[in-house]
Amino acid sequence: QWIYLNDQFVKKEDAKISVYDHGFLYGDGVFEGIRVYDGNVFRLREHIDRLYQSAKSIMLKIPYSEEEFIDLIVQTIEKNNLRDAYIRPVVSRGVGDLGLDPFNCKRANVVIIAEPLSIFPKELYETGIEIVTVATRRNRPDVLSPKVKSLNYLNNILVKLEAHLANVSEALMLNDQGYVAEGSADNVFIIKGNKILTPPGYIGALEGITRSVIIEIATNLGYEMKEEPFTRHDVYTADEVFLTGTAAEVIAVVKVDGRVIGDGIPGQHTQKLLKVFREKVVSDGVK
Ligand code: PLP
Repeated sequence: QWIYLNDQFVKKEDAKISVYDHGFLYGDGVFEGIRVYDGNVFRLREHIDRLYQSAKSIMLKIPYSEEEFIDLIVQTIEKNNLRDAYIRPVVSRGVGDLGLDPFNCKRANVVIIAEPLSIFPKELYETGIEIVTVATRRNRPDVLSPKVKSLNYLNNILVKLEAHLANVSEALMLNDQGYVAEGSADNVFIIKGNKILTPPGYIGALEGITRSVIIEIATNLGYEMKEEPFTRHDVYTADEVFLTGTAAEVIAVVKVDGRVIGDGIPGQHTQKLLKVFREKVVSDGVK
């Protein structure tokens, strides 16, 4: 396996970064998660735009143009001979001293990891998953925008911890006002009748790229698709609930905090959205 590391490809065993890197010391950096379906990189431009916007927001200079970065991603996939893969670009502030000051870091470290895809267990898509809501809150958008996909993922990690302590694999975070925000690494949707809701970005959700594709699909299919705040009560009483993300795609949720959702099996609308999504990832890809 070849890793792209600062202007060259190195073997996985040799891909090393200094302990003085501020990504390691302080979580100072940004990242992305991108998927390749049968050789097609899904929504590559959107992922790279988001990476550069995250970097701009925290004043982190990526030492390549967006076009060059896109080319590097493609090269990394080709170098590793992958058809179905998960790509992880990471840009950290780089090596500095032990102080916080980012201006002491002269050059960002750029890493691109491409791995064969480890697909979620198929049965999860057939049975749906159980989730809980947790005490960890999404950070407020005016403090550090959840739109920044930064290396500072402690909230999300605490969510995952709380999920595991409750013996489930995923959980939902609320924002500081108690509105449902998102999962540890996925967005949430609820369906009631013909209406589909997902929390707006200002509630404290990353504007997921899978989320935007589902919004597009749901709108085209004639659903009343809205970005609107909702509470746990709305989740508990929804007909269907599902999560979206680059890794998870579209996954049905059948129980939330012990409340059975709908009939306790993946609902027809969720299944339809997943089907159209899977058709789209093949037809929409960029070579
Ligand atoms: N929310 C968070 C916090 C995430 O880390 C992710 C994963 O990237 C998502 C949502 C889903 O976003 P996407 O569909 O772009 O993968």
